[in-house]
Amino acid sequence: MAITIDPEAYLSLLSQAENDAPIESCGYLLGPDAQHVTENYPMTNVDHSAEHFSFDPKEQFSAVKYARSHQLQIVGNWHSHPASPSRPSEEDKRLALDPNILYFILSLADEQPVLNAFRIQDGEVVERYRIV
Ligand SMILES: [Zn+2]
Repeated sequence: MAITIDPEAYLSLLSQAENDAPIESCGYLLGPDAQHVTENYPMTNVDHSAEHFSFDPKEQFSAVKYARSHQLQIVGNWHSHPASPSRPSEEDKRLALDPNILYFILSLADEQPVLNAFRIQDGEVVERYRIV
């Protein structure tokens, strides 16, 4: 199965990640259904770290409210890996507690950015999606 991301949403996430690098960037990806992302909801990495990220609980709350009022679902959350590949780190897997959403990781390590999405259950990747 593939996940579709609209170009405007992808460009928004990409420019946010490039602006934040070398700090990891993060946000929510919203869409009308679980396979289609139409919007990036930018959030602050309160860790201000190049190796991990945490959401601001207030921003998470606002994101959920925003999604509801626009009839959008939270397809998943995303964060960037400024200098490592597009796959979850051990910590990412440990902290991925929701099996119902996707975890998107944008890697800026190579010349071409790479975006993959993962479903993570009990600390293990159970499915990987190519983004089209
Ligand atoms: Zn990570």
